[in-house]
Amino acid sequence: MSAVLVFVEHDRGVIEESSLQAIGFAREVTSSSVAAVVIGAAGTEVAARVAAAGVDAVCSIDASALADYAPEAWGDACAQYAKSVDAIAIVGCGTDRGNEVLAHIAAVLDTPFISNITQYEASVPVKLTRLRWGGSLLEHATLDVGLAVLSCAPHAFDSPQSGVGEVPRSEFVAALRDDAARTRIVERVSLASGITLQTAPVVVSGGRGVGSADGFAHLEALAELLGGAVGCSRVVTNQGWRPHSDQVGQTGKRVAPELYIACGISGAIQHWIGMQAAQRVLAINLDKDAPMVTKADFAVIGDLHEIVPAIVEELRRRR
Ligand SMILES: Cc1cc2nc3c(=O)[nH]c(=O)nc-3n(C[C@H](O)[C@H](O)[C@H](O)COP(=O)(O)OP(=O)(O)OC[C@H]3O[C@@H](n4cnc5c(N)ncnc54)[C@H](O)[C@@H]3O)c2cc1C
Repeated sequence: MSAVLVFVEHDRGVIEESSLQAIGFAREVTSSSVAAVVIGAAGTEVAARVAAAGVDAVCSIDASALADYAPEAWGDACAQYAKSVDAIAIVGCGTDRGNEVLAHIAAVLDTPFISNITQYEASVPVKLTRLRWGGSLLEHATLDVGLAVLSCAPHAFDSPQSGVGEVPRSEFVAALRDDAARTRIVERVSLASGITLQTAPVVVSGGRGVGSADGFAHLEALAELLGGAVGCSRVVTNQGWRPHSDQVGQTGKRVAPELYIACGISGAIQHWIGMQAAQRVLAINLDKDAPMVTKADFAVIGDLHEIVPAIVEELRRRR
């Protein structure tokens, strides 16, 4: 088989949306076969699900050393499979895990790894654009290698609409030592709420303009009414108004909600990097020339301490 392999990420059986985007990316890389590689304990179940997601074949690789996230062992196993099928390329999504596993694959195969690609032109040589420096720089590059390991930037490529259904499925046995996994999961802690900053459909985020920790009460009320989560800028975490786990941006979390409501956030590039994948942005700001306002889809110019409570009140009234 001569195919592009897609490293499929899943969390105990639940396929990550980012991996579906990676399948879409693989279709840009090749007009020939795309095969999914599914690793770990839930591999066989996931293989059945991923078969319907637009690939031509699925291979599962399972072993005791692969049961939980183990980037070196996963990378080694994928690399062995890629060699055995003479893969054209190995792709994945540029999530933290995706990039880590792909980096190991590239190291084992001694081949280049090109991460966070946003555009790909399958010419000779290949022309591509990729994110550098946390997304603050776009690099245009050409690629001229036999076997490449590539990751697409999250949300840069669409997931395929659907697949053909039944596709050939296989299992691969990788030669791994029992201690190949250098990390071991000793405890799992469930989140109290199902919504996290990174999965919330709406993020209500506050910046310096919120003015204090207490000022976030209205943002929390709005987030709750919209089924969303609260985020913030670095100024806010530096001030100790919110924990660092709420920070959005280059040195915080990357979010991609349907709606990002930026309250009193100027829109510095380091913040923008963390929420640029939002489908829609609503800026609430005193300054009509703030970068967040000029780049937003919608803006309300005024004091957030009046506007946010007014929105909350109106939502409550309508309910
Ligand atoms: C290496 C590096 C990494 C960084 N990483 C991050 C990161 O991950 N995330 C991040 O956010 N920043 C990061 N920063 C900091 C970033 O450069 C900005 O300083 C920061 O994002 C600004 O936060 P802010 O928008 O809350 O504050 P400001 O830039 O001070 O903006 C405040 C905004 O609030 C508006 N405002 C004030 N009062 C009101 C009001 N009552 N109603 C409505 N609007 C009001 C103002 O008009 C202004 O636009 C990083 C910087 C560096 C150098």
